[in-house]
Amino acid sequence: MRKTKPIQAELIEFLCDECKRGYMRVVQGGRVIHSNPKQWQHQCSSCGEDAYLTFAYPVINYKGEDFMLAKHVRFQTEIMPMQMKDD
Ligand SMILES: [Zn+2]
Repeated sequence: MRKTKPIQAELIEFLCDECKRGYMRVVQGGRVIHSNPKQWQHQCSSCGEDAYLTFAYPVINYKGEDFMLAKHVRFQTEIMPMQMKDD
């Protein structure tokens, strides 16, 4: 059975390189490039800048290990890197 316990962890955000104000968030239903490591499509919460990042931000760090939201890992529409030519 599943069991829970409270923990102390750190939230890691990715500050937008373009406007330096907003934070990069995974685009719901967006593309995941099946490279190694994978890349998730993100969009800035402030200026709307697009970027593909190798973590699905925000990330939680607990005891030196990075954790990503299950919804971004369990269900995804993957595309192979060679299919990116048209972008
Ligand atoms: Zn931005």
